[in-house]
Amino acid sequence: MKKLCKFKDKKFEENKAFILLHTKEPKFICRKCLRVSNNKKLLCKGEAI
Ligand SMILES: [Zn+2]
Repeated sequence: MKKLCKFKDKKFEENKAFILLHTKEPKFICRKCLRVSNNKKLLCKGEAI
């Protein structure tokens, strides 16, 4: 599974459903990229919020 941290702007539209599903009600934040997710595995340096 591709990490949210790796997504680029132009990939957003085609992966929108996947991104929205995994950023809903976030439980983790990436210390490096500041992205959030409910799945720690999708962040490169995920930390519990
Ligand atoms: Zn990251």
